[in-house]
Amino acid sequence: MTIPPDYNAMPETEFRAMIRAFVTQAFPSELLHVARRVGPQEVADYNRRMAQQGWIAPAWPVEWGGMGLDTAHQIAFAEELAAIGVPRLHEMGLQMLGPLLMQFGTEAQKAQFLPRILSAADVWCQGYSEPGAGSDLASLRLSAVETPTGWVLNGQKIWTTMAHQSNRMFMLARTDPNPARKQEGISFFLVDLAWPGITVRPIRTLSDELEFCEVFFDDVQVPRDRLVGELHKGWTVAKALLGHERLFVGSPRYVRGAFDQLTEMVEALPPDAIAARERHMKLRLDYEDFLSLYADYSDFAKQGGQLGAEASILKLLSSEIYQRVTEEMLSLSAEAGVIADANTDQAEAATHFFQSRPSTIAGGTSQIQRGIVAKAVLGLPV
Ligand SMILES: Cc1cc2nc3c(=O)[nH]c(=O)nc-3n(C[C@H](O)[C@H](O)[C@H](O)COP(=O)(O)OP(=O)(O)OC[C@H]3O[C@@H](n4cnc5c(N)ncnc54)[C@H](O)[C@@H]3O)c2cc1C
Repeated sequence: MTIPPDYNAMPETEFRAMIRAFVTQAFPSELLHVARRVGPQEVADYNRRMAQQGWIAPAWPVEWGGMGLDTAHQIAFAEELAAIGVPRLHEMGLQMLGPLLMQFGTEAQKAQFLPRILSAADVWCQGYSEPGAGSDLASLRLSAVETPTGWVLNGQKIWTTMAHQSNRMFMLARTDPNPARKQEGISFFLVDLAWPGITVRPIRTLSDELEFCEVFFDDVQVPRDRLVGELHKGWTVAKALLGHERLFVGSPRYVRGAFDQLTEMVEALPPDAIAARERHMKLRLDYEDFLSLYADYSDFAKQGGQLGAEASILKLLSSEIYQRVTEEMLSLSAEAGVIADANTDQAEAATHFFQSRPSTIAGGTSQIQRGIVAKAVLGLPV
């Protein structure tokens, strides 16, 4: 195995320049700055090049083929990609499953799955939500009944991002139908979407994209070696992604592109468009407040701090400001903003608008985030 350079020893400016130079020429230019989520097939070549370079997993430890970056360098890496205009990618294997397997997987599971995440041979999706079990995830009902060789799964998942472009799913299923607490009796499994009994049905979104799916399980046989962690303890596995990963959920990455575009639109308005300028200034003040809070939290994380429930404040601000910015873009675009196939800045405004709508739902709704902030940050009785 070639030993990668010690990136953490590099001065940050040099590190940033190195990342920027490579990614700028490796990422497909026609996909830079697109507002929608980009599918794995569209960036297969980029992923291959990043994997060859040894840069596909910035946060993973070196022993598992990652760059082993410390938090400061991870933040710098993410900021450089955002500055270049790399859009949202589908990286659940890298960002979610990989770290969970390192912590809870058997040696055989790590050896089988981690290299295939790194080489982008496998594309993973996350099967947690079900009809009736989203915010209240512990109410999930998809059943896993034990057999001599493993388990049989029956039930349904929904809102599974990119399931139709994935070959594998990490998922939660109920292994005990009558637990003392509903968070108990849930187990964490790894399934192949090509297994008999699994049906993936894409859902067309408001923005006319096929971004997420329903996934049905009818008597699906799961072998014993696909259980991750202890039986009935899947909740602990699923909840383990904490710490500085939380910072990235509330990063300004998506708001920034939209806000810059809004600013260009406002600058192009005639001098007497005073009301629009005032609205822009008000938004700008809130946007700058958010950026400064993000900078404080990221300094805290760089110094080794673990973000707790405060991360919910960032998630709230980034998603809600993103929506306000895109509403303003759409209103300034007037009727051109709703012509979906027009190749104009205004049509881009519509794309941003549609992309911003789910941001207050995915990853925990705004109401849930407010509940967390009220209880765990402000100590209010809720
Ligand atoms: C773009 C996108 C991608 C997604 N990708 C995935 C994925 O890959 N895998 C996956 O498993 N899931 C995914 N989800 C699902 C997501 O996790 C759920 O939509 C989310 O948890 C909310 O659950 P729900 O849709 O069932 O709404 P519900 O939980 O039914 O909520 C409905 C409304 O009630 C409010 N509400 C619920 N409980 C409370 C409460 N206690 N206090 C106050 N208000 C409350 C909510 O805020 C919301 O306004 C995705 C969702 C979106 C939008």
